[in-house]
This record gives sequence, structure tokens and C-alpha cells, in this order.
Amino acid sequence: MNACVADSRQSLPESCLSAFHRVYFKARLRIFTECMKPNKPLHIAIIVCVAALFAGCSTSVRYIVPSDLQSPEKTEQTIAKYTSALKGKTVFIDPGHGGEDRSGVSPNEELVEADINLRVAKKLRDYLMRAGANVIMSRESDITVPLASRPERANASNADLFISIHHNAAGNPETNYTTVFYHSKPGTAAYLPSSHDLAKFIQRDLAYAMRNPGPLASFDGTMSDYLIYPGEGFAVLRDAQMTAVLVECSFFTSTYEEQRLKEALYNDIEAWGIFHGIGKYVLAGIPNIAFESSRIFTSNTPKIDLHVSDEHGIDDQSIKVFIDNKDQGFLFNKNSGTIEVQTLQELSPGYHLLSAQVRNLNGNSAGPFGEYFSIGIPPHTIRAVTTPSSLPGSTEALAIVRLEAVDSLNRPCADGMPIHFETSTAIDTVLHLRDGRAFIQLSPDGSGDIGFRAWNGPVATEGQIRTDDSSPYTYGYIVDHEDTPIPYATVRLPGGTSIEASNSGAYVLSGRRVAGLEAVVSANGYFSKRIAIEDRMKQPPIVLQPVARGTLRGQTVFVEAERPLFLGSDSTKQHLAAQSAGLLTELLQSSGAQVFDLTHTASQERDSLLSAHPNAIVLQTILDRRYNTTILRRGPLESSRDLSRHIVDALRDHTDLRIQQNVPRIWGSGALSEHTQVSVSFPAPGRWTYEESRIPHTAWTAAWGIYNGILTSVGYDMKGTKLVEANVVEKESRNPASYVEVVLNGALRGITNEKGVVRFYGVSLDHDDLAPVEPGLYEITGVKTEILH
Ligand SMILES: [Zn+2]
Repeated sequence: MNACVADSRQSLPESCLSAFHRVYFKARLRIFTECMKPNKPLHIAIIVCVAALFAGCSTSVRYIVPSDLQSPEKTEQTIAKYTSALKGKTVFIDPGHGGEDRSGVSPNEELVEADINLRVAKKLRDYLMRAGANVIMSRESDITVPLASRPERANASNADLFISIHHNAAGNPETNYTTVFYHSKPGTAAYLPSSHDLAKFIQRDLAYAMRNPGPLASFDGTMSDYLIYPGEGFAVLRDAQMTAVLVECSFFTSTYEEQRLKEALYNDIEAWGIFHGIGKYVLAGIPNIAFESSRIFTSNTPKIDLHVSDEHGIDDQSIKVFIDNKDQGFLFNKNSGTIEVQTLQELSPGYHLLSAQVRNLNGNSAGPFGEYFSIGIPPHTIRAVTTPSSLPGSTEALAIVRLEAVDSLNRPCADGMPIHFETSTAIDTVLHLRDGRAFIQLSPDGSGDIGFRAWNGPVATEGQIRTDDSSPYTYGYIVDHEDTPIPYATVRLPGGTSIEASNSGAYVLSGRRVAGLEAVVSANGYFSKRIAIEDRMKQPPIVLQPVARGTLRGQTVFVEAERPLFLGSDSTKQHLAAQSAGLLTELLQSSGAQVFDLTHTASQERDSLLSAHPNAIVLQTILDRRYNTTILRRGPLESSRDLSRHIVDALRDHTDLRIQQNVPRIWGSGALSEHTQVSVSFPAPGRWTYEESRIPHTAWTAAWGIYNGILTSVGYDMKGTKLVEANVVEKESRNPASYVEVVLNGALRGITNEKGVVRFYGVSLDHDDLAPVEPGLYEITGVKTEILH
């Protein structure tokens, strides 16, 4: 049994968040699968007890003081030899255990492992500093240092090398050898060749200085920490983001070794051996890799340049380049040291990790190299909103996590950007943004709270959903008449609380008693519905009926109110055109269309929107000075003429507007001429004046007529649908209410005429729920429905 390793296990971080850090770290410095070149065999001779004695040594202790440690002059010469390579390097030394952790006691109880580790570490520190290195230690006295904070502090210090110093333990008092651990093993993603390089150098010089063999299980004496903890390794090595080794100098459980370890001079020899190993490692050179390109690319097959250098020369057969841990092609220019990366696949928007591996001609690999770059504007912040924040522990329950990713200007990140998502309940998936959002539903797995982490590259968010059986909670799904989930529906509760359903139609109500409450459920393209929340955890499905049978789902419509050329030219008509465009937008959306209002869109953006939607319909409400409503078809397309004819018919059949004969007027150019497009001009009885009070009804009537014209043009059949007509009165006076707004089943907006009458044609729905927008002032007095033939 290996005592210090056992300690490591006890202190392995158990929380899921630490697990996330681990994963994050792996992702960040995902390294390299290449095997090292076979190492030169080290001649670790079996040590026949060498009874060479030196001044100051006890007669019972057998060790040899290295010749270059026997005089201050020779010691100085050796240190000077390494100075050129060590100067400016930062070495983090981690003496294992200490403080409350003094459990590693030698057989005769003469030594504690923590103390020997510290003695060796301090000696090593002195040698490294004399050679010009910066040294940082995890502890310099007998204090408690948590396991996790050791690599954390090394990472924060930007150290080049991490050296953890330990002494080993075994049940057999004769077991004794020297070994140096590196993290992971060749062929796995977490393997870092430079750590293996350093381990070999230290192993060779330390075992020689101590006159110890290496372990039988290893050819060169180094060992993977996966041999001790398969797949995990030691926490300190796993979490250190630099070239890192853990040195097990020898076994303090050996009765023979115990006598040697007591001696300060022997501890000095240990430090000297490690120092030699580090010195020879850095003298052999460490290749440098640098990112040469910009870090933001517009193309999804970016041209990325890396630069590699090493005074001993680069082994061009050793180069490997990875994006997101996948092998990439490259061209290497030996003269300039430039690696031109050739991406082998199209990359998604957002961050990607570029990593690379290279050896110099002495066989030393570069330290960990991983840099992020971005396709498009990178995410700046990812936010997570969980609904609810606590839920019952039942595996039947579910919570919705809404993730939002925005750039540094708070704009939604690009569609398709992947967001990696992991939970403590073993969910590990990738979500893709749409309109800057992504949703996922989580259920408890019976093990308590759910922790999660979401990230793109280095931008991450973490959250937790508590399980708590005491808080009120219910949830359900919103589906259409064909049982298909309706995404992003809204559930409104009395008092104005509004909940957005997920992309898969799930909604959650929590935090207050909701059983018995009436909720209004609405979604774009569907008639709203009023439901009573039942007293149960999972509500029955809420079925919404599509408006106009959902005819316009998948249809894109551009609506544009023409703006006057100069201010004040005809503000009344401009008002009318704008209001009509707004109402038309609402109506079209209610039947499922995707509508862009171009009225206030800059012309460049307008052109790019139009060319991105070649099958869209373009509708303009314009400021033509005519007395009647005029329909102008535009552009050369036949479909424009058909649409204008349908709109004229609909306005005649379903409105009280006076319609001018369809005036074919063909113009439009560029992108516009490729679209089905119609312009509508509004009636104006006078050149500069117009009865202001009539605007709302005229605007709505025109919008309603145009809407019905579009419905019929795409194949919506009015036959079998309903005509709904109602009178609206003022509550107090009982007079007809002119030009007031009413809503039909929460989805369609209408405006009464001057006689207080509102009409909807061609409505497909099961029940009619007509309500004034201001129920305190107005009342519906009669609703007539009639099936159209
Ligand atoms: Zn230890």
C-alpha cells in the first residue's frame, strides 16, 4: 500500500463542481495522443550495498555523497552549468502532506513523511534559486495545505514546472525504490509528453544519487499515475496546468531507508539528484509554440498560423496539430518555423481550442499548449435561468434550464453555436443556440440537488437546482391539435406573472400555490386558451388550436410602412400606414408566419434580409395620394399579380373600404424584383386632412383584408370557417363603442367600426371568446357566428 497515494485518494474532490473543473481543465489542455520516442535505457544498476563512508555519516548508514556535492567549488560549478537554462524559469515545489496530515510515520517512529518532504523541498528550492530560477512553494513549514489548492496555486503562479515531493510507503519493510509519476498515460487525451520527459530526467538522476533501483513494473523507473488510480490519477498532477511530476524519492516504511532519511546530508543528496534531473531536462531544451494569427475568424475554415522554435532544432516528424482534440492537417515551413494549420472540417460559431505538440531534436516535447480562437464574434457571457430553482426530489419532476449566450455588446450569439452542458446527474450533451438561446429539461435522479455547467470554450456558467419537497410545484406540456409540442408558448397567471415554455413545450409553475388558478396559455400562430391549474404535479397536456389552421407557418412576410420623404408631408396617412403595418404584423404572426417589420431597418440590413429569404412576401403600406384604397403589384413576377388580386377580393368581401381597381404598376429592382410584392395605399378624403378618429378602424380593416387576401393566396379555404360578429357598447352609457379594440380567443385583435361592430371572417376555432381589451370600459353585447359557405 502506498501511503501518500492513499492520502491523495482521501482528499480527492468529491463535489460535482470539482468534477466540472476537472473536465474543463481536460478540455482546455486536452493533450495529445502521441507516444514518446522510446527512451534511451537508463542503467539503473542493482545497488549492492555500498558501504562507502564519508565524514559526518553514521557508520550504519550507507550512501554516497556525489562528487560534485563534496566541495562548495564543485557544487557551484554544477549549479553554474544549469544557470543559463534555469534562469527566469518558475518552478513550483510542493512538499507533500504537513500540518494536520502527519500520518506517514516510519517503522521506528523516528520520522514523519511530511517532514522529510519539506527538508528535501527546501534544499531543492535553494539549489534552483542559486541557478536563477524563481521558486514558489506550496508550504515552507509544517502547515496544512488542502490538496486542491496546491495545483491551483501553481496554476495561478504561471509556473513552468510543478514538482511534488513525497516519500513512499509499503507493507513490506524491505520494499524500497525510487519512482517519478507523470499524469495519465500515452494514448489518452490527458497525457502530457513533457511531464513524462521531466519524469525520466528526474528519475535517472535521483535514483542514481540515492543509489536506489526503480520499480520493477517500469522500464525506466517512471510510472503513470493511472497505474494507481486508473482514469483519474493524482489530483495534484491532474489539475496542474503545466509540466508536472510527483516524485516518490524512496520508502520511509523501509527500516533500512529510515536510517538514511534521518540524515540531513542524505536529504541534501535527494534534493541534489532532483536538481540534476531538472537541470539536465531544461538544458535539453523545451520547444516553444506560439499563436501567430488573429484569434477571431469570419470563415468557418479559418487560416491559422502557429510558430514553433527551439535552439536545438525542431523534429518536423513530431508535429501534431489539433482543433477541439481532433487531428488537423498542416504545412510546416522549417526555415521560418511557421505551421500553417489546414482545418479539415467546417467549424461551428464560437470558441474552439487549438492545441499542438512538437519535439525538439533532443527528444524533449513542448509543454502544454492550448489557445482558444473564435469563429465569428465569441460569446462573452452565458447566463442560465432555471425554472424552478428548487423542485421536488421525485424523478417525475422536471426543471427547465434556459441558457442565453450574448457577445460583449449583449447581442445574442450566432445560431448554431454549440453550448456544452453537463450535470451531476450524468447528462453530458451539446445544445445549439437559436436566437441566442438553448433549453434543456432536467429531472432529479434521486441523489439530491442537480449541479450543472454550461460552456463554450472558456466562457462558462454553473448552476444548481435544489431538491426540496416542501415547495409548491407543477408542470405540463403545451401541444398542438396533432400532439406536437409547441415551443416557447407563454403561460400567464393572474397578477401578471408570465412563464415561457421551453423549446419542447414544457412549462413549470412553482414557488406559490397555483392549483385552482386560471392561466391563459398563448403561442404565436395559435388561439389562446384559458385553463384551470389542477392540483397535481403533472398537468394534463394543454392543446392549442392553430389560427387559420396554421396556414402561414413556414411563410416569411416582410411588412414595411413607407416613410414620408420629408417631415409633415402627410403625418395622418403616415400614421395610418404605420398602424396598419403593425396590426398586419400581429395578424400574420397569429397564423404562424415569421414577420419582419422593415419600416425602421437600415437599407443595407434590409437588402441582406431580403436576399436571405427569397420566397418571402413583401408588403408595403404606402403614402399614395388617392381617395380609395389602391393595390399596386410590383415587380415582374406572376405571383405578385395573383397576390394583389387576392388582396383586392378580400378587401371587397370582408371590409367596408372602397377599393380602386387593381392598378398594375411594375417596378422594383435588384433583390426586390425577385420577390412576390404588393403595395397598398390608403384612402384619404382630403389632400392634407383626414378624420383622425377613423384611423384605428381603417388601419385594422385594411390589415384584416390584406391578411385574409394572403391566407387565400396560400390556399386557406374560407369555406367551413366562421364569421364572427359582435357589438361592443360603452359600459356606462350603453352607447355603441366606436374604434375600440377587442381580442378573439386571445390571438386575433380587432377594432370596432364607428357603429361599434367588429367582424372576423374565416376563423377556425372551437369556441369563441371575444373580449374587449379594456373590459372595465366596454362590454360585448352580442356575438353572432355563422359558418361560411
Ligand atoms: Zn506522500
